[in-house]
Amino acid sequence: TFVVTENCIKCKYQDCVEVCPVDCFYEGPNFLVINPDECIDCALCEPECPANAIFSEDELPAGQEVFIEINADLSQKWPNITQIGEQPADREEWNGKPDKLKLLER
Ligand code: SF4
Repeated sequence: TFVVTENCIKCKYQDCVEVCPVDCFYEGPNFLVINPDECIDCALCEPECPANAIFSEDELPAGQEVFIEINADLSQKWPNITQIGEQPADREEWNGKPDKLKLLER
């Protein structure tokens, strides 16, 4: 499965949701997640992310392993998203900032 990782927090560009053939993205206040039971590993979303926040679970950067569980958990609780909605106005400023996990709104 593919996993949305930390750099999506407060960036939430949402380009990924438009290309997913099985509509398996779910939306929270400032982050997106992938439902691991629905993802078919097509890899289409990975290059679409302007924040480079999407990785195969087999290729997660060091320290991002916690997001496997976060995606699995929050995709059960948040609503489905299939089209780009409003993007955070300050998304470019947050792109690349470290230690954003504490800012994740659930
Ligand atoms: Fe959707 Fe494919 Fe990305 Fe999985 S890898 S979330 S199926 S676009």
